Amino acid sequence: MAQPRVVSIHYTLTNDQGEELDSSRVEGREPLSYLEGAQNIISGLESALNEKSSGDQLKVTVAPADGYGEVNEELIQPVPRTAFEGVETIEPGMQFQAQTPGGPQIVRVVEVADETVTIDANHPLAGQTLHFDVEVVETRDATDEEQEHGHVH
Ligand code: ZN
Repeated sequence: MAQPRVVSIHYTLTNDQGEELDSSRVEGREPLSYLEGAQNIISGLESALNEKSSGDQLKVTVAPADGYGEVNEELIQPVPRTAFEGVETIEPGMQFQAQTPGGPQIVRVVEVADETVTIDANHPLAGQTLHFDVEVVETRDATDEEQEHGHVH
């Protein structure tokens, strides 16, 4: 197997409607660096960058299956409003950190009724086709330590 690389990219992410969701090309932001083969970034983006080198530019479309997954309806569920004790106003779109058996998780409020609040624990980009406009800024061989840790130093 080839030596894994650390790849640094600038990217702009848009959805199917052409709305910009995220970009590294804003003032004060560094390029995104990831370690190959370590699931640091979504698989659909990483596989498109496999053979790319510094200076390459590409547009990548990533289906939900190769991105943040499909929406899991079981992760959308009502909870009693009393679970939000101490929160004065609860509105759709708000995000909370919930304690779950699997650790802390971000949930979004999708609907608010008298007695219940419907929350969605899916990744905000689940179910979405993602469009990346990417430029490879730099690549280098990963160090042994980075490979051991599974992330970029
Ligand atoms: Zn480390």
